[in-house]
Amino acid sequence: MNKLKALFFSLFIFACSSSVFAEPPAQLSGEMIQAGVIFGKTDPSYLITLDDKKIDVSPDGNFVFAFGRDAEKNHVIRIKSADGSKSFRKKLSLKDGNWDVQKIDGLPERKVNPSEEDAKAIKHEFSVIAQQRDIISENDFYKEGFVIPVKGRVSGVFGSQRILNGQPKSPHAGVDIAAPVGTDVVASGDGIVSLTEKNLFYTGNAIMIDHGQGLQTIYVHLSKIIVKKGQKVKKGQKIGEVGATGRATGPHLHWGASWFETKFNPINLVIDK
Ligand SMILES: [Zn+2]
Repeated sequence: MNKLKALFFSLFIFACSSSVFAEPPAQLSGEMIQAGVIFGKTDPSYLITLDDKKIDVSPDGNFVFAFGRDAEKNHVIRIKSADGSKSFRKKLSLKDGNWDVQKIDGLPERKVNPSEEDAKAIKHEFSVIAQQRDIISENDFYKEGFVIPVKGRVSGVFGSQRILNGQPKSPHAGVDIAAPVGTDVVASGDGIVSLTEKNLFYTGNAIMIDHGQGLQTIYVHLSKIIVKKGQKVKKGQKIGEVGATGRATGPHLHWGASWFETKFNPINLVIDK
């Protein structure tokens, strides 16, 4: 009898685990491309994994994930109902980012090959920024959408391999927008100011905004910061002014975006939504 019960039970489990959702259980928006960002909407009780890594879902059913510049091309998203009775699996194939090569000459030698003394300042800079990227907030401010944070000319695209003063360096991790010193810089989306730092070695004066669930944007080389850490900001609200602080050949905004430690192309926040 017990054996029979066990058999029924295992058949029941098998039947449950093999059933699929009648309709796709989530809507995804965004371009499937290296350094892309994907926004999703689902039932808040569902469990989502991307390549077996759990993705947080907000109480309203929103979620977000992003891919790095050199991300693998093939990924798998799985969605399960809370009781595990229904499941969904989808392969995601990313387009190639086709990254450029960008040569920049005339940078001060010290900003390309830092001294030991400068290395200490750089270590501090990386750690304060990295600490912020680890913040996990349940907020889903990102659902309000994004704008380009400054009016100007794009002078440097995301992902380009950089040759600085003739030396190959790490790829460009943001978008550069050239504009005169003092031009308004606005929050690209709703969020909470998570970092305001001055005089960092590379980034100069910088602001970070937490848009929720690991999604953050950064605003670099500012001449002026007019917000405080912990302040709530709205999309389009002025947060600072363009400058040339840190490692910059001229006034521009370096605009970056990250999902936890993964840096992605911020332009993907404002296109194809
Ligand atoms: Zn830049």
